[in-house]
Amino acid sequence: MRYCKKCLMPDTRPRIIFNKDGVCNACEYAEQKKRIDWEARRREFEKMLDSCRSKDGYWDCIVPWSSGKDSSTIAYKLKFEFRMNPLLVTVAPQVQTEEGRHNQQAFLDLGFDHILFTLNPKVHRKLARKHFIQCGDPWLAWTQAVNSIPVKVATALKIPNVFYAEHGETEYGGKVLSKKHQKERDLAEVYQIMIGQDPKEWIDDEISLNDLAPYMYPNRGDIERVGVKAHYFGYYFRWNAYENYLYAKKNWDFMTVQEGETELDLPGVPKKGRTQGTLTNYDSIDDKLDNIYYYLQYIKFGFGRAVRDASRLIQNGVITRQTGLELAKKYDGEFPSRTFEDFLQWMELSEGEFWKVVDSFRKPEIWEKKKGEWVLRYPLQ
Ligand SMILES: [Zn+2]
Repeated sequence: MRYCKKCLMPDTRPRIIFNKDGVCNACEYAEQKKRIDWEARRREFEKMLDSCRSKDGYWDCIVPWSSGKDSSTIAYKLKFEFRMNPLLVTVAPQVQTEEGRHNQQAFLDLGFDHILFTLNPKVHRKLARKHFIQCGDPWLAWTQAVNSIPVKVATALKIPNVFYAEHGETEYGGKVLSKKHQKERDLAEVYQIMIGQDPKEWIDDEISLNDLAPYMYPNRGDIERVGVKAHYFGYYFRWNAYENYLYAKKNWDFMTVQEGETELDLPGVPKKGRTQGTLTNYDSIDDKLDNIYYYLQYIKFGFGRAVRDASRLIQNGVITRQTGLELAKKYDGEFPSRTFEDFLQWMELSEGEFWKVVDSFRKPEIWEKKKGEWVLRYPLQ
């Protein structure tokens, strides 16, 4: 396990590539971003919008919307800056936080149309539990629904443009299948990377084919008939999650995490409030299951949410590697005790079962036992 020389990301992140100087491809892309002519990209964006802006009052685009700072910033800009007529589509969070509830309402109150899709709780809980035990990922079915529902709505309501945030594989280190698809989402990539499993594989004694409709991606024929195109906002505008947070704070009553405190020292970021396991208090804060997901990521790959968040801040030049390193060392792998009880209850798991699952994902290449405690074989440096 080695860490990128520029950010903190280790090579255990799936699909990340390191160059001969020990720098990851997310950092290489961060360098490229400095040389992109963003004015030209903005003009390209405006031209594209001119061809798809509604003239009859109907919705002209869909924004898959979580109520977080990123998707909200996109929806806000499309509606108020670019005069589009977006329809927001949300898959309801599994266990919504107070902050998430507040942010959802505060944003809708600005004046948006919104479809909230609620997954069958009985089925979804069974799937989340099964995937947590089998793959250490309580999010797997959820991610599938989040990918499929907005495109299903686009296809059904014949709204051909969908606006996604950033292309994760480009922005954070991964496998870029083709340059073209940094701009427009590629169906092959959705199937290969973002989904990776056919929901039909989930059928068992408890789950039937009829339970799987929300998780099934629309078929290619339907998508092509409506001509649905999924655009990446991050291709047209320099993507920076911290700037999106500042934008949210400036333009609506965006609530950050209320409990705890952080040593992250950035203009506009309150000291009060911090998500456990990381340094931030404004990112991915609407679902109580998030923290367990990131904790399992820490167990499986040896890096947690603090390394992830600090690396992104370093890549965008918001903090130095040294600052990120100090904060990540302090917070990475911190156990999400605040949301643990809710998680167990929702999952119908005992604490003993939880730890048994956790330990089943510790690889000896990443973890070793010292004086009865699990420690990383190659600590962050
Ligand atoms: Zn890096």
